Amino acid sequence: MRSQDYDRLYLSPPHLGRHELNYVSKAIEDNWVAPAGPNLAGFEADICAAVGVPYCVALSSGTAAIHLGLILLGVGPGDEVLCPSFTFVATANPIVYLGATPVFVDSEPATWNLCPERLREAILDRMAKGKKPKALILVHLYGMPAKLPEILALAQEFEIPILEDAAEALGSEWQQQPLGGFGRVGVFSFNGNKILTTSGGGALVTYDRALAERARFLATQAKDDAPHYQHSQLGYNYRLSNVLAGIGRGQMELLHDRVKRRREIFAWYREHLANLPGLTVALAPEPAGSRSNRWLTTILLNPADPDAETVSNLTPETLRRHLETRNIESRPLWKPLHLQPLFADAPVYGGAVCADLFARGLCLPSGTAMGDAELRRVKEALTEALSA
Ligand SMILES: *Cc1c(COP(=O)(O)O)cnc(C)c1O
Repeated sequence: MRSQDYDRLYLSPPHLGRHELNYVSKAIEDNWVAPAGPNLAGFEADICAAVGVPYCVALSSGTAAIHLGLILLGVGPGDEVLCPSFTFVATANPIVYLGATPVFVDSEPATWNLCPERLREAILDRMAKGKKPKALILVHLYGMPAKLPEILALAQEFEIPILEDAAEALGSEWQQQPLGGFGRVGVFSFNGNKILTTSGGGALVTYDRALAERARFLATQAKDDAPHYQHSQLGYNYRLSNVLAGIGRGQMELLHDRVKRRREIFAWYREHLANLPGLTVALAPEPAGSRSNRWLTTILLNPADPDAETVSNLTPETLRRHLETRNIESRPLWKPLHLQPLFADAPVYGGAVCADLFARGLCLPSGTAMGDAELRRVKEALTEALSA
């Protein structure tokens, strides 16, 4: 097997620019690979500027940021945390790290994110059972803004703090305001498949200076202010390295371009796949006020529209396997967490909407380095599969 397969079209590979190496070289020339240093401070300032929030703590992963964020919101053993069922497992795992229980809520069809009606039902029912949810995790799947006005109003009405998991939504906006700044705590991921990457990394953002300071403290082993190693609280080793933050600095310069290209790729698919029978490019159009970074373009098979021409025996898995024969990577949509064996015992409100999306959906290659020739390759492979 070749170590790198140049012919393969990956789903969302890293796409480096020209300046990452300068920042990384500087860290090495200055012998400043550790501890926290200029790249880390610069990367955090870049994120603050892009998201429009005053405080940022760069961390080793998005998962670490969610874990610390939940601690900042006071989540502990026995608590319940509201969470969409339709998301990557990393959204919910930190709830369990803390000995708390996720309460899963279904999606609504327009954005695939938290359904406000199911969310209200969940809050009222948990309260009737004697337990008010301690926090709410809000996710913007595939970069598409969730129904923010409705969800923010519910959080305010019931005084439940929001952790905004914007891991997939860096560069997305709601009414011209960047996502990530709508909760008490916001989270980004710089994992290798995200719109920007540090190879692995994450960030926590907040308007609250005390929360940011506490996140920094907890992320560096919770060392008390003393000359010796003194510890009164449980800490973690979650800081990002100054070397990786250098990659992040170079990447942040490209955010605008990368969002532009992801959106072009989405528009290309939407235009060129329009006539394929039994298949639709999903999440189009954008709801009013929303601007998605279009992290991944997704398709749905056999749309519910009874007038649509359907290809009934085709499943996302047969399509995925066909693309694989053409050396094209595609992936099913996130498998809902309420259907995961790991969370078999967790409460769930609704669930049919996201289960149906999972049964019919597929993510297409959406990497920003792709050109039109690669996009045509995907279209040809899809056409073959649909006419087979
Ligand atoms: C990628 C992702 C995470 C986790 O981020 P890591 O940096 O990989 O730990 C969390 N939530 C969502 C929705 C994600 O897509």
